[in-house]
Amino acid sequence: MRRIQHRINGEIVNPSPDAANEVLNPATGEQVAEIFLATERETHLAVASAKAAFADWRNSSVAQRTKLLYKFRNLVMENEMRLAELITEEHGKVLEDARGEVARGIENIEYACGFAEALKGAYSEQVSTGVDVYTLRQPVGVCVGITPFNFPVMVPLWMLPNAIACGNTFILKPSDKNPSAPSFLIELIQEAGFPDGVVNLVNGQEETVNQLLCHPDVDAISFVGSTPVARHVYETGTAHGKRVQALGGAKNHMVVLPDADINLAADAAVSAAYGSAGERCMAISVVVAVGEVADPLVEAISERITKLSIGPGTDPDSQMGPLISREHRDRVVHYIEQGQKEGARVVIDGRSDLLDLPGFFVGVTLLDHVSTSMEVYKDEIFGPVLCVVRVETFDEATEIIAANPYGNGAAIFTRDGSTARQFQRDAQAGMIGINVPIPVPVGYHSFGGWKDSLFGDTAMYGPEGIHFYTRQKVVTSRWPDPTSSQIDLGFPRND
Ligand code: NAD
Repeated sequence: MRRIQHRINGEIVNPSPDAANEVLNPATGEQVAEIFLATERETHLAVASAKAAFADWRNSSVAQRTKLLYKFRNLVMENEMRLAELITEEHGKVLEDARGEVARGIENIEYACGFAEALKGAYSEQVSTGVDVYTLRQPVGVCVGITPFNFPVMVPLWMLPNAIACGNTFILKPSDKNPSAPSFLIELIQEAGFPDGVVNLVNGQEETVNQLLCHPDVDAISFVGSTPVARHVYETGTAHGKRVQALGGAKNHMVVLPDADINLAADAAVSAAYGSAGERCMAISVVVAVGEVADPLVEAISERITKLSIGPGTDPDSQMGPLISREHRDRVVHYIEQGQKEGARVVIDGRSDLLDLPGFFVGVTLLDHVSTSMEVYKDEIFGPVLCVVRVETFDEATEIIAANPYGNGAAIFTRDGSTARQFQRDAQAGMIGINVPIPVPVGYHSFGGWKDSLFGDTAMYGPEGIHFYTRQKVVTSRWPDPTSSQIDLGFPRND
């Protein structure tokens, strides 16, 4: 049985024995690990360790930090399969998908390896006689990352590499539902040779998060998770004087126009709605079918999903695994029932004999004729349930997206460049896909939604990540002629 413990100042910290929880394999319902949850003592130790390490780490050279980041990147590459196996075992997603997650995480380490370029600053020479002005970006201090269950490796890597590259120290508080992969990631950080205390791991739940949000020695919080918790983290963290970026939930729309390639759109809808059992913040959960495309599109999607193979993520034939927990599976089933009660047409029903298995499986569901007043439309279901909303015009489609409180991603499928361009301008979401259903930006752009999908003003990773993890300092410097004396009581003017 794996024991998931805290890693503070380079050491495994003895856990409080009465604070252990079970970690289950969602494909079997069996326990695979036990996780020890932090008490206030461990949380304080982690912050103290990160604070103490900051003094030296902020002064480490660019060359030293770059070398360590490269080493870390190579170790993650070498251990890619082990990380993916741990993800599959505790999350349930199929192994290939887990490997994809690790690959997207590595992209963020690679971006951080080039941080020297991003931190070069700016220099203006001779703004006045003998005066130069330059901008530096310096680290913020102790940064905390609080991450969700659905990407246990990739989301920590959205934060950690950029934070430490910029000279900050870091505390990771991953989801307690599948902690083995992030815990192994922190082992790899230690193996890479980062000084003790630069990266720390505390495991916990709501209580630990709240202790970190209020701790006077924490300077910045990066959060990814559901919208109610993101809002709480943002409000509490900022009220305690910290900078906070808090990414929340989503309800992503995919608009399909009558001129779209139906096969391309149907393939895209199926992969984006049912991949990882719909437990992705960029999953497509609503197809907005415009005009006469609706009937053939619904038919093409149903044809494809009846052939999907559902089973344990370790089985190479499985295309979709289980949900994270029994409670979450039951919640998804409740939404299917609710959608049917409210008048949606259940084209494909996920309530099947899969529900009798010991693992937390549910089948795929396709709901047609969904209206925007239904619960299945309004709530984030976070499961393999795709809703189809039928509209008559492109304008109606963009209005629906604008009225939705979430604004993570939105996609359009069309052959018409001008309409696609209009969509890109008008869609009220932070990440737009044009004939691409899951437009997750590469590591050198930044990831973030609008509206209730992001609290704060800074997206995750890429240039915005560097911005978040640094503070600007502007230096105005004068090296006057030592022989001339100048006393001037006026406000400085640049002549
Ligand atoms: P969650 O909000 O339940 O948990 C996220 C983190 O917050 C975990 O570390 C958890 O321990 C902690 N937490 C949970 N409840 C808390 C509380 N009441 N107070 C303080 N901390 C608390 O999210 P989840 O179920 O782990 O992940 C799924 C959610 O994350 C979905 O809503 C999904 O859309 C969202 N998500 C968003 C993005 C994005 O980029 N916008 C990416 C991935 C996941």
